[in-house]
Amino acid sequence: MDEDYPKTLMEFEKRFSTEDGCLDYLHDMRWPDGLACPHSRSISAWLTNRGGIVLHVTRQLDSQPTHVVRLFQDPHRESTFDMIAKTYTCSLLGIDGLLVEVEVDLSPGLPYFSTVGLPDNIVRESKDRVKTALQNSGYPFPRERITVNLAPAHLKKEGAGFDLPIAVGILAAMGLLDRQMAEQVILVGELSLDGRVKPVTGSLPMAIHAQKNGYGQMLLPEENALEAAVADELSVLPVKHLTEVVAFLNGSATIAPVRVDREQIWHDHITGEMDFEEVKGQEHTKRGLEVAAAGGHNVLMIGSPGAGKTMLAQRLPGILPLLSHEEALETSKVFSAAGLLNNQPLLVQRPFRSPHHTISDAGLVGGGHIPRPGEASLAHNGVLFLDEFPEFRRNILDLLRQPLEDGQVTIARASISLTYPARFTLVAAMNPCPCGYWGNHGRECRCGTHQMQRYRGRISGPILDRIDLHIEVPAVRYEDLRSTTPAEPSAAIRERVVAARNRQLDRFSGDGIYANALMKPRHIKKYCHLDDTGENLLAGAVSQLGLSARAYHRILKVARTIADLNHQNDIAPHHLLEAIQYRSLDRSMF
Ligand SMILES: [Zn+2]
Repeated sequence: MDEDYPKTLMEFEKRFSTEDGCLDYLHDMRWPDGLACPHSRSISAWLTNRGGIVLHVTRQLDSQPTHVVRLFQDPHRESTFDMIAKTYTCSLLGIDGLLVEVEVDLSPGLPYFSTVGLPDNIVRESKDRVKTALQNSGYPFPRERITVNLAPAHLKKEGAGFDLPIAVGILAAMGLLDRQMAEQVILVGELSLDGRVKPVTGSLPMAIHAQKNGYGQMLLPEENALEAAVADELSVLPVKHLTEVVAFLNGSATIAPVRVDREQIWHDHITGEMDFEEVKGQEHTKRGLEVAAAGGHNVLMIGSPGAGKTMLAQRLPGILPLLSHEEALETSKVFSAAGLLNNQPLLVQRPFRSPHHTISDAGLVGGGHIPRPGEASLAHNGVLFLDEFPEFRRNILDLLRQPLEDGQVTIARASISLTYPARFTLVAAMNPCPCGYWGNHGRECRCGTHQMQRYRGRISGPILDRIDLHIEVPAVRYEDLRSTTPAEPSAAIRERVVAARNRQLDRFSGDGIYANALMKPRHIKKYCHLDDTGENLLAGAVSQLGLSARAYHRILKVARTIADLNHQNDIAPHHLLEAIQYRSLDRSMF
């Protein structure tokens, strides 16, 4: 299909009119004799239909016999039947909505249905679903040439959400429903063969985008209505069947908009996070996680199987500061784009994602045939937990370098690159050795030095470089298990974390960062000043433990966080000592 095909008579005139007042449409004679080129046929049919006169002649142009279709427009006859209709829909670009204009043109000619404007395979297959859905819902299907144009043309159109706007566009072009009404709403939905409207992914970002673009109403599958209703200035109208859409657009039926109360969701869902109160003992690990939460540091937990690493990591989101409304919306948009919001309007808790080590590249960072956000983005504003850390393939972990650095993932597509947000706290967990019992006092480790080195050597160096804290997680002691005194609740820990975070926000207000973990060497120099005792202490540790320059910086950052937790402006020697403890991996094996 020719992309430059004129869409309206005016466009056609501008392009092809000649001085003698007729419209010439030239094309070469490569078409078999007796068979007109499909373009000229449909254009002449289109013009005849609008009151034009068509003459086919053959001319000698540049010594080539050229087929010229001369099209005369009769000024006295007015077109009676305009067969172009427009509808509007939203599609997804990363986790943002993209407004798409769907133009449907019917022109006499052999029945043919073409979709232009970079449709992907699923959009291209839409014609079969739309045709069957229309017929099974009792509507006529035009026996003409149907051209569907999706604009903007340069961006690939993906997914099945275009079915509904295309079906409505065809009905509008046939004059079966109010064309103006159809142009004023956003239509989103996949059609099943019997005309039911099926859910799509990403309705939350689509609704937000529609609202931003000044639309007042959006018709979409009822399964998606609740998440879309978060865009509260938009009237979100849930539909189950194509016939309801037609009845609504013809004014013969009304649909009650879905409303959600954002404040109410906020209050209802904020509770129910997993609590540290339920974890007996493990005070050292809990303290480490508190430091991590307070400074936004990434963590590596090292401990035997059954020590409770997963259980502890799962409780980290519960001591991080509460999500702000903006963060909640961002994280919800990611879940909506992935189709994981599960009819919950808004996520108000920080996400915890724990992908298995066999996960695919696209599963971890996003992408795929129909692009979707990966686990790194689903963990946005929350925690990404990688258990069995050394089992993850090195090249898949390398994919995490960009999100750990920039807080986002970029995926290159054929025509455009997509960006998904991915700012998370990384919590990695590993056994101390292949058998898992090194350093465990209950059981004997049987791993050789070589085996051990190979196991630890599997950890991706560049990722390890972005982890500030190494926390040893010992097996739970029997006395702790038996203890009946409740542990400190997460809410109390969160209060300290928030206070420490607020100190950091004040300090970094002019630096473009918000947490100690994000400090660059220039910030460290400015904010991590040590007195002489501190300097000597750290110099001694570096030489005794053989710490690298990187480890040196990490210790300073973590010490800064510990000082913040203690409401101290200066880093004291005991802050440093605690921070040095959290470098166990440097100490014992590298
Ligand atoms: Zn072992």
